[in-house]
Amino acid sequence: MLIDNYNKVRENIDKAAKRAGRNPEDITLVAVSKTKPLSDIEELRAAGVMEFGENKPQELRDKYDNISAPVHFHQIGHLQTNKVKYVIDRAVLIHSLDSIKLAQEIEKEAVKHSKTVDVLVEINYAGEESKFGITKEQAIPFIKEVAESFPHIRIVGIMTIAPFVDDPEENRFIFKGMHQLLLDIISENIHNTNVSVLSMGMTNDYEVAVEEGATMVRVGTAIFGERNYNI
Ligand SMILES: *Cc1c(COP(=O)(O)O)cnc(C)c1O
Repeated sequence: MLIDNYNKVRENIDKAAKRAGRNPEDITLVAVSKTKPLSDIEELRAAGVMEFGENKPQELRDKYDNISAPVHFHQIGHLQTNKVKYVIDRAVLIHSLDSIKLAQEIEKEAVKHSKTVDVLVEINYAGEESKFGITKEQAIPFIKEVAESFPHIRIVGIMTIAPFVDDPEENRFIFKGMHQLLLDIISENIHNTNVSVLSMGMTNDYEVAVEEGATMVRVGTAIFGERNYNI
C-alpha cells in the first residue's frame, strides 16, 4: 500500500525534525507523483494525502483535469515559458523560478487569470552545469528585481535540487548553506515577498535536509517506487 510508504517517510521526517529540535508540523511532505498513474494519486488522496509534485506541466494539467477529488499540485520541475499557461491556474506553488524571462511570462498569465502566484526561486547551490537555477550570489538581487517588477508574483521561498550522491552527508553543507541563504533573504525584508519556505531534500537525502531546516521535502521514489521512463 502506498500509504504505508508515505507514512514511513512521514515518520522519518518527524524523527529528523525532533533530532534537530524542530517542530515536525513545520515540514510539508510533497509526494512526487511524476510518471505515476492518476490511480496512485487517488489512492493516497483517499487516505488523506493532499500535496503532490509533478515536473512536467502537461502531466500536471492532465492529472489536475482528470482527478476525481481535488488535491494540491506543485510544479517542481523546470518550467519553460511556453508551458506556464498549463500550470498557472492549477499549481498551488511553482518551485522553479529561475529567470526574469520566466517571471515575465508568469506575470502575464497571472494578470490574465486575475491572481497572484506563489513561487520559489530555484537555486543551483552546487553550481552544477547540468542543473537549472540561479547562483546563490544572484539570489538576493534577483529576488529584489522580481519583487519590484512583477506585482502578481509573490516569492515565498527558495528551492534546490542537491546533487545525487552516495552518502547524503555529502549534501549537508548545501542544505546548511540554503538555510543560511533563506535567513539572509528574510533579513532583507524585501517588499512584495513573504519568504519562509525552504524546499529541499529528496528520497536519498530528505532526512539530512530536514535536520538542516527544510520546510518542504519532495519525495518520489520512497513513496511510489522506482520510475520507469520507457513506458
Ligand atoms: C523527481 C523529483 C523529485 C523526487 O525525487 P526522488 O528521488 O524520486 O524522491 C524531487 N524534486 C524534483 C524537482 C524532482 O524532479
